[in-house]
Amino acid sequence: MTQPLPCGILLIVKSEKSIRAVGLLSGGLDSILATRVMLEQGIAVTPVHIETGLTYERRNRLTRRQASQESRAERAARMLGLDLVSLRAFEDYIPVVLNPKHGYGSQMNPCVDCRIFLLRQAKRWMEEHDHQFIFTGEVLGQRPNSQLRHALRTVERGSGLEGLLLRPLSAKLLEPTIPEERGWVERDNLYAFQGRSRGPQMALAQEFGITEYPQPAGGGCFLVDKTYSRRLRDFLDHEGPDALTSEQALLLAIGRHLRLPSQRRVVVGRHHEENAHIASLQDQGVLMTTIDDPGPTTLVSGDPTEGEIELAARITGRYSSAGDREAVRVKLLNDNLSAIVTVAPLAPAEIRSLMI
Ligand code: SF4
Repeated sequence: MTQPLPCGILLIVKSEKSIRAVGLLSGGLDSILATRVMLEQGIAVTPVHIETGLTYERRNRLTRRQASQESRAERAARMLGLDLVSLRAFEDYIPVVLNPKHGYGSQMNPCVDCRIFLLRQAKRWMEEHDHQFIFTGEVLGQRPNSQLRHALRTVERGSGLEGLLLRPLSAKLLEPTIPEERGWVERDNLYAFQGRSRGPQMALAQEFGITEYPQPAGGGCFLVDKTYSRRLRDFLDHEGPDALTSEQALLLAIGRHLRLPSQRRVVVGRHHEENAHIASLQDQGVLMTTIDDPGPTTLVSGDPTEGEIELAARITGRYSSAGDREAVRVKLLNDNLSAIVTVAPLAPAEIRSLMI
């Protein structure tokens, strides 16, 4: 039997035993607890994780050779005994980042629009897979912008999930939702957590016997990071939004970034893993590294001039272990451009003036 809701969703009414819910699972403690609370209430939960591609977890898995390891969300789902659904959404997500209707947080983080976007993706999945509502691990007042009471309401409305978005950890402080009103979940067995303290969540984790969970910053969103946001603004100013591919967005979180006086971008690896990643980007410009001494791998983006190559080689020399010498030999690594240049490492003050 179906029944229309005020928000336009066609609700499939089932017996209490077969209620199915989508849980947004980031793999952090709050989303793990919210899922566990729903499982305790007999709800059949499908954990959904939406990959925006803009997280330090993605970078770390790539540059720290953790690719074979589970993601935080996968680990959490396994711990909860559930099969994770991962949805990739970079291309659709970027317009949200570039033009957020509700503005940015302290950096380039469009948190309210981001939550709306993630929930719309989850809603689509819910409708296609015969689930009845969505829940998240959001806690009232935990974050300055996106988790204040009015922001939670804006997110609920904006995602088209009015009445069908349950926040089990703060539900007792919020208006009852359809799952509570219909008795699918017991409101009395939900929680009234609020604020930034993690104490109540840790106590609940202990009660559930959950001992393995990541620290809050573990999944880290690029967009709340000051340096990343500065680089992203610079990228958009110089290279334009159309150039912002998933790979470019990731590269902005890797290495040191410099802008030459000619406006060409140079990326210098900081350690072995970053150098290895940069070395894989041959198709994006000219690569170089020092040959007599250990040094970074550098990418000079696009099709640089001789002058730009020389300046980038001087930067590469400075970041090598021979940075204090008068001259350093730098090898260009591209297939169609094989050359060795001898340059004087650039002075640290000059390098600082070029940093993005
Ligand atoms: S911190 Fe990043 S991932 Fe989290 S809501 Fe804000 S923009 Fe989205």
